[in-house]
Amino acid sequence: MVKAVIAIHGGAGAIARASMSVEKEQLYIQALSAIITQGQTILADGGSALDAVTEAVRLLEECPLFNAGKGAVFTHQGTHELDACVMDGHSLQAGAVAGVKRVRNPVLAARAVLENSPHVLLIGEGAESFASDHGLEQVGADFFYTQERWDQLQRALSTQQMLLDHDGASQTPDDPLDPDRKFGTVGAVALDQYGNLAAATSTGGMTNKQAGRVGDSPIIGAGCYANNANVAVSCTGTGEVFMRTLAAYDIAALMEYGGLSLQEASNRVIMEKIKVLGGSGGAIAVDRDGNVALPFNSEGMYRGFGYVGDAPNVGIYREA
Ligand code: ASP
Repeated sequence: MVKAVIAIHGGAGAIARASMSVEKEQLYIQALSAIITQGQTILADGGSALDAVTEAVRLLEECPLFNAGKGAVFTHQGTHELDACVMDGHSLQAGAVAGVKRVRNPVLAARAVLENSPHVLLIGEGAESFASDHGLEQVGADFFYTQERWDQLQRALSTQQMLLDHDGASQTPDDPLDPDRKFGTVGAVALDQYGNLAAATSTGGMTNKQAGRVGDSPIIGAGCYANNANVAVSCTGTGEVFMRTLAAYDIAALMEYGGLSLQEASNRVIMEKIKVLGGSGGAIAVDRDGNVALPFNSEGMYRGFGYVGDAPNVGIYREA
């Protein structure tokens, strides 16, 4: 019997270890550990991989430490536009939403698309009314507002940069990753006791992004992919590069057609192919045998995994 496992990420970027207070580090570690534990409980109780990743990402969206749901970054126009995706490796069904402004938990809207729509990806107002028709909570724009993200947009506007959410030497004391330059997308991948794989990804995108811009996170095969035949993957990083490389699907294809192991395939994509195109970030992946890979080419990635019955294993920095 396979050993069920869940892995999650809360974004990648350059870690300024010196600017990380012990308290802040503990906040991240506790948040990651608690969410892995919830996912492990769902899997231990016989829940599906799909349910485990949906709930883990919903919890990450609810946590303002991460750039998804509450805590999401601002667009250039000072609004929030959220993207999310979920894929079931058993049925190869997928659901995604992009550019939603009022859905409290975009991952639940993505799941509703997967379950209730013949379509895969809904955008903007159509996605919002679909979510509302399926009983999902709508919120006002102020729900997503956080002072930290607003200040981040003002810095981005003053330097005319489009910023990823976890990268660079921190200018904010007490934040381990530079809040202006870190990738804060969240994601989860899981293998359940029945041998099913699933993946989910959710993001606020990039600070100062053009309104209407959609990144890799809600694009099947780019920022999210799951197939019981090989692997489940969720990505974080420079969205445009992950789209151009079809990063998540590329890991699956290297395993399926190239015979590479999970470690080889995920390293090839994240450490080589993404970097060649100037991209930065990472991925979490679990294969059908329950192997876990958490590669990133940035200095750090909020990440962790937990096999059912084991303690959660979390990390932020690159291991020496
Ligand atoms: N990949 C996301 C995007 O480009 C950003 C991130 O990972 O934080 O929208």
